[in-house]
Amino acid sequence: MLLLGTAHTVVSVKGSHLASHSSLSQSKLWNKLWEVLFIEVCGSFTAEVGTQQHLKLHHAYTNVIGLGDSSIWKAPFFPRYIYLFILPLAVPVITPIVAIGLIQDLPVTIIIRTLSTISLGMWLHCYLLIQVSGFRSLLSAFLCMLLYKAIYSIPYIHVNIFQHIGLAMFSPMKKPKRIYQMAYGVLNLPRNVLLDWSFGHSLINCHVEHHLFPKLSDNMCLKVKPIVSEYFKQHNIPYNEDSYRSRLRLFINKYQELMVDAPLLTELVGIQ
Ligand SMILES: [Zn+2]
Repeated sequence: MLLLGTAHTVVSVKGSHLASHSSLSQSKLWNKLWEVLFIEVCGSFTAEVGTQQHLKLHHAYTNVIGLGDSSIWKAPFFPRYIYLFILPLAVPVITPIVAIGLIQDLPVTIIIRTLSTISLGMWLHCYLLIQVSGFRSLLSAFLCMLLYKAIYSIPYIHVNIFQHIGLAMFSPMKKPKRIYQMAYGVLNLPRNVLLDWSFGHSLINCHVEHHLFPKLSDNMCLKVKPIVSEYFKQHNIPYNEDSYRSRLRLFINKYQELMVDAPLLTELVGIQ
């Protein structure tokens, strides 16, 4: 199950994320193919809307209130332990439903493509489980698929909230210079074999670098990391790093403040 979950997450999270940034190939056509394969067929989400939201909102307006403020990840009506440890298990079920909601206004051809690729992906999972792994019924294969898709959904939700929420938040009117926006609004987690493999450096230990240079591949992010951290140190710019355990403790203890209440605005006086 761990192998299936890891293999699935490598393509549906790491692959999808890098494909959405066109970091997997120099060819536009190949990038589009990877995007559709990884995000839609493997990840059961919409490449069209997913990529737009990630690039045009999350990256362009990182931590800007009302735009890229990560509020999409907040579900304030759930208690902290349910949100952090139980709700993520529903991500494999919620993902295609959200995708169908998001594609409603797109051109008919894209709606048909997305519905076909998502259905094809789910059918392929079940087909392989029945033909190769020896599952006897479609239902048991489907449940197995949901289970291994859910294995990494707890750290997936955690990583998404740990690296931006609780850091500096900016007003759309007073957005600081890009380098300060990313330095104050993004955090790196330490390296970890499972997370490096499944989510990739750009989402884990090189997230600051990824926000500064979003088109770099995972390997290049790792190479520029020492240069970026050294540059930040020389220029007295904060380089946010914290451990997974410490972020988890913070989110459990300050759940109300971080995930329920509206975030406070930060004004970086004097350095803009
Ligand atoms: Zn990104």
